[in-house]
Amino acid sequence: MIKQYKKIYKSILNEIIKYDTIAVYRHTSPDFDASGTQNGLVTWLKDSFPNKKIYPLGKDFIDFTPRLYPHIDEVSLDNQDFLAIILDTGNSERIDNQSFKNAKSIVRFDHHPKVETIGHIELVDDSLASCSELVLDFISCFIKKYPLSPLAAKYFYSGIVGDSGRFLFSSVSIHTFEMAELCLKTGININKDVYLPMYEKDFHDLEIQQYLLNHYVLTDKGVAYYVLKDQDLKELNLRTEQGKNYMSMFSNIKGINCWVAISEDKEKGEFRVSLRSKEKAINKVAEMFRGGGHAQASGAKLSSLDELPSLIEELNKLF
Ligand code: AMP
Repeated sequence: MIKQYKKIYKSILNEIIKYDTIAVYRHTSPDFDASGTQNGLVTWLKDSFPNKKIYPLGKDFIDFTPRLYPHIDEVSLDNQDFLAIILDTGNSERIDNQSFKNAKSIVRFDHHPKVETIGHIELVDDSLASCSELVLDFISCFIKKYPLSPLAAKYFYSGIVGDSGRFLFSSVSIHTFEMAELCLKTGININKDVYLPMYEKDFHDLEIQQYLLNHYVLTDKGVAYYVLKDQDLKELNLRTEQGKNYMSMFSNIKGINCWVAISEDKEKGEFRVSLRSKEKAINKVAEMFRGGGHAQASGAKLSSLDELPSLIEELNKLF
């Protein structure tokens, strides 16, 4: 356990004990860490406090449900006192379901660089590889009284491997492995329960990779990017949020310093941008284009492709 957080962990547990209704939130367009932490915490809360009403909030992400995480029911929290626990979200407008604003008390666990205060109790540590790692650390403080079940461990483990790039990123530490150990000790089968549903690909994915290898652009500064316009997405049978799923094929290539996926969101009239980098921090560039995130993994938005040359220019300047 991270010693300096012991006091704050106790005050968070007191808030949990105080409320009969607890709603657990994460960011929109969830990734493995957002959904894994949410489902892990919801499962642990339900196991530990069977008489409380515990609700996960947010829209289902069809790539994940039901393959990895269960369906989320819609609930109304009107006219009741509840505790909101917000996970893995740096800025309040990205919280999936804004009903957290009506909560009597708000607790936040996050590992993004702090840009905003959202909760009454905030635990934000951007040195940690994943939000799952932070919430598991909190749970480890009370694990004798409130044990971790294999189901909760499976969810948290998916968050750890998702946001640490399968233990590859520089944010991985001894603590990351200690929290993974906590999950493994519950007896989960990581191959069957976690890696297979997370990473299994099919021939359609191979065809998309082939298309992207034929269409990506590489600048002389080592910035690689691909653009999927609405028409491309339709032809490839992809949804906007799936456009970024193929970026990792550029991650270990000598000569590529930073790689970017740009996918059109026709409904919103914008382009979603995912940015990844080997070493240099790219989150400041993401912030210049309506986004943010971590040093090596950020997201942003372009209102049109007219902004693409300036995005690429800003990235080129880093190398
Ligand atoms: P993505 O490329 O969508 O996987 O996002 C990478 C990281 O950047 C995640 O930690 C996201 O939470 C964060 N992120 C993505 N989009 C935004 C945004 N518009 N504003 C702030 N952070 C973002």
